[in-house]
Amino acid sequence: MRVEIDEVACIGCGLCPQIAPGVFQMEGEIAEVIVNAVPEDEEEEVQQAAESCPTEAILTD
Ligand code: SF4
Repeated sequence: MRVEIDEVACIGCGLCPQIAPGVFQMEGEIAEVIVNAVPEDEEEEVQQAAESCPTEAILTD
């Protein structure tokens, strides 16, 4: 699984780093992805973060 953040859509709510701290971190006012590929044992958290993001800014494939 890969994950990206739509930096225009992100409102910096801070939720995704709370849910998946191994994958997301805050960089100023927006979140950023800190891994190239999501480790298998973090995929569930990333999916949960994507579903919880208030602006649907987390894109997965
Ligand atoms: S949950 Fe969505 S809006 Fe909130 S910081 Fe993460 S990407 Fe941005």
